[in-house]
Amino acid sequence: RDYENEGGEETNINVVVRCRGRNDREVRENSGVVVSTDGIKGKSVELSMGPSALSNKTYHFDKVFSPAADQGMIFDEVVAPILDEVLAGFNCTIFAYGQTGTGKTYTMSGDISDTLPLPDAAGIIPRVLFSLFSKLDVEESENSVKCSFIELYNEELRDLLSADDNVKLKIFDDNSKKGHSSTLVQGMEESHIKSASKGIQLLREGSHKRQVAATKCNDLSSRSHTVFTVTVYMKRTTETGEDFVSAGKLNLVDLAGSENIQRSGAENKRAAEAGLINKSLLTLGRVINALVERGSHIPYRESKLTRLLQDSLGGRTKTCIIATLSPAKSNLEETISTLDYAFRAK
Ligand code: ADP
Ligand code: MG
Repeated sequence: RDYENEGGEETNINVVVRCRGRNDREVRENSGVVVSTDGIKGKSVELSMGPSALSNKTYHFDKVFSPAADQGMIFDEVVAPILDEVLAGFNCTIFAYGQTGTGKTYTMSGDISDTLPLPDAAGIIPRVLFSLFSKLDVEESENSVKCSFIELYNEELRDLLSADDNVKLKIFDDNSKKGHSSTLVQGMEESHIKSASKGIQLLREGSHKRQVAATKCNDLSSRSHTVFTVTVYMKRTTETGEDFVSAGKLNLVDLAGSENIQRSGAENKRAAEAGLINKSLLTLGRVINALVERGSHIPYRESKLTRLLQDSLGGRTKTCIIATLSPAKSNLEETISTLDYAFRAK
C-alpha cells in the first residue's frame, strides 16, 4: 500500500494514531500510563501489558502522535496533504475513531470560538476552512464553497444546519453521474459560504444544536456520528483555453465512540438484538477492510454512514483514519480494541 501513489483503483487509506495525555480523573485515580510512542511524531505505539516488558505489544502505523503533538501539527502532517487532493478535485474523508473521551471531537472541532487568528486549540474543521479560503480566490465567480453538517443516530439522519429540527433526511441513490456511484440526501441544507468565519459559525451552531439534544438523550453524543462536509467548486482552464468547473469534497467525520462495537460471540448477538451495536460503525469497518483487501464486494449499502460516504471511499479517493487513545491503564482494553480496528484498516 503506497499512499503516495497516484493511481486508478488504489486504495488510499492512511491510518494515524493520536494519544492524548492523562486527564484529571485518570491522574486522580492513579491510573498508570501504559501507552508510549516513539517521539512526538513517530510510527509506533507500544502498550505495557503487564509487569514484564516481554508482554508489551507494539503496533506500527503511518504516523503516531504523542500527547505533545498539538492541533497545528495534526493539521500540517495529516490534513494539509489531503486538502491538496481535494483542491485537485478528489473526494476525501477524514475519520476520528476511538473510545468516548479520547479526543475525537477535540481533534475534529476543538476550539470553535470565533476569534482570529485561530485559537491554538482549533481542530481540523476550522483549520481546513481557514486554509481553504487562504488558497482559493472566491471572488472568482466560478469558485465556490459549500458546507453541510449532519448527524447520524440509530441509522437516522438529522440536519444540524436546518432551522427545522423535525426534518428527517432521506438517502437516495444518485444515478445521474457515470462512474463511482453516489447518493443524494434529500432535503439537506447546503450553505454556500464566502469566508472561513462563516463556515466556523455554521459548525458552532450545528455543534450547539447537537449539545442541546445530547442533554436530553444521554447516550446521543457517544452513539452518534457527525459528518461535516466541505465541497469546493473550482474554475479551471484546459490547455486549449476552455473553462470548466472541477469539484472536490472533504468529509470530516466525528464517529460514535468505538466502545459501541466491541464484544464478541454470544454477547454480540444479545447486544445486536438490543440495538446496542452501532450498525454504521460496524459496517464502516467492513467497508474499509473490503477496500484494503481489494474485495470484489464492498458493503456500502449496509449502513447509512457508508451509503452517505460512498462516493468518497474507494476508487480515486483518499481516506484517513485518526485513531484516538487514552494513555491510562484503566482504558487499556478499549485501547487494544481501537488499535486492532485501526490496524486492520492499514
Ligand atoms: P471524544 O469526542 O472522543 O469523546 P473529546 O474530544 O470530547 O473526546 O475529549 C475529551 C476531553 O479531553 C475534552 O475535554 C478534550 O478537550 C480533552 N482532550 C482530548 N484530546 C486532547 C488533546 N490531545 N489535548 C488536550 N486535551 C484533549
Ligand atoms: Mg465527542
